[in-house]
Amino acid sequence: MSWESSVLYYRIINVRVKERKGGHHSAKSLLYSVDFQEIKDLQHQGNWTESTKIMIEAAQKLEAGGADVIIICTNTMHKMALEVMNAVSIPLLHIADATANKIISDKIKKVALLGTAFTMEQDFYKGRLINQFGLEVIVPDEADRGVIHEIIYHELCLGIINEHSKKRYLDIIDSLIRKGAEAVILGCTEITMLISQEDCNIPIYDTTRLHAEAAVDFALGDEE
Ligand code: GLU
Repeated sequence: MSWESSVLYYRIINVRVKERKGGHHSAKSLLYSVDFQEIKDLQHQGNWTESTKIMIEAAQKLEAGGADVIIICTNTMHKMALEVMNAVSIPLLHIADATANKIISDKIKKVALLGTAFTMEQDFYKGRLINQFGLEVIVPDEADRGVIHEIIYHELCLGIINEHSKKRYLDIIDSLIRKGAEAVILGCTEITMLISQEDCNIPIYDTTRLHAEAAVDFALGDEE
């Protein structure tokens, strides 16, 4: 959604295709890029009806343009994933599924979830991890959720990388480790710009990479 993370998706998708197919192969893709100011305003006004309309219209345009599969390149806007799925006849690969499948294959049970307040507090994402994948999900306390959320919108979505913010994220991750988290989900597609595996003592699950790579693997199937 913010173009900062769309760029990451575009790159990861093409690198994955190149790894798998070699040569000058790259991904045939259609990108529906939004004006993120509009989306951000609707999110913060709680106007999910209008933002769902925008998401459905975008998905239908991609389908009409010839896409075989759709990914929504953000965690938060999976709030309306079911509505979008129901409005098109091509598959939509859910970001939480790509992430949870990897967590389960690594035999991890209790995960900490970092993301926007919408993702950390509402049920559309946590609920899927808990009910469909049997994971135990913990989130930061209210004050820390505020810190995580503000840094996403005021810095990361604007491409601002700040060392002090990184330290605040790492302190919050430490507090979640003390509460028993075995791993951390970077459940916002821009957090990977700030935090990487080298910064953490427990596994991190980067939803941007997991989702983008899952899309390529789905699209290519057994093709080499
Ligand atoms: N990209 C972020 C996410 O993964 C938040 C901003 C947005 O709504 O796209 O949730």
